[in-house]
Amino acid sequence: MHAIMLALFMLVPINLTFAEPTTSITMLTGAAQQSDNQQVVFRGEVVGDLISSADGRVWVTMIDSGSAISVLMKPEDAALIDATGRYEQTGTKLEVTGIFHLSCPTDDGLSDVHATSVTVVAPGEPRKSSVNMMLLVAGLLLVVIGGLLAFLYHIFHERMR
Ligand SMILES: [Zn+2]
Repeated sequence: MHAIMLALFMLVPINLTFAEPTTSITMLTGAAQQSDNQQVVFRGEVVGDLISSADGRVWVTMIDSGSAISVLMKPEDAALIDATGRYEQTGTKLEVTGIFHLSCPTDDGLSDVHATSVTVVAPGEPRKSSVNMMLLVAGLLLVVIGGLLAFLYHIFHERMR
């Protein structure tokens, strides 16, 4: 039994196909002169709308720790995105390998990444915290309404006497 478990553990690293991210969106957006025109590997969450570019590729906005970057990818890569981050849900988390341009010559000097390879790290999912927040607000509202009704009842009761 132990031998089987050990064998399984030894197999796990072989099954990890993701390359280790070499950088982060925060590093790229922080005046990363040394990364200009270099291949970068990073992870982030897809947010906002996917926008088709003039040449048929897709602009994807990715965020990580409050920093955002524009990523240009092939339509078949963009098709991997099952959700974009919004108020009520997190977007698909992607790992992108591509070429970073501090000031892209073909895209109006935009800071961007032209993706060469895209993999899904985690699918999008509903944001649980916002649901809890709604319940909290609804609960507080009920307490306020209840208090108000009790107050009105009290006043009515006083006047009836
Ligand atoms: Zn570009």
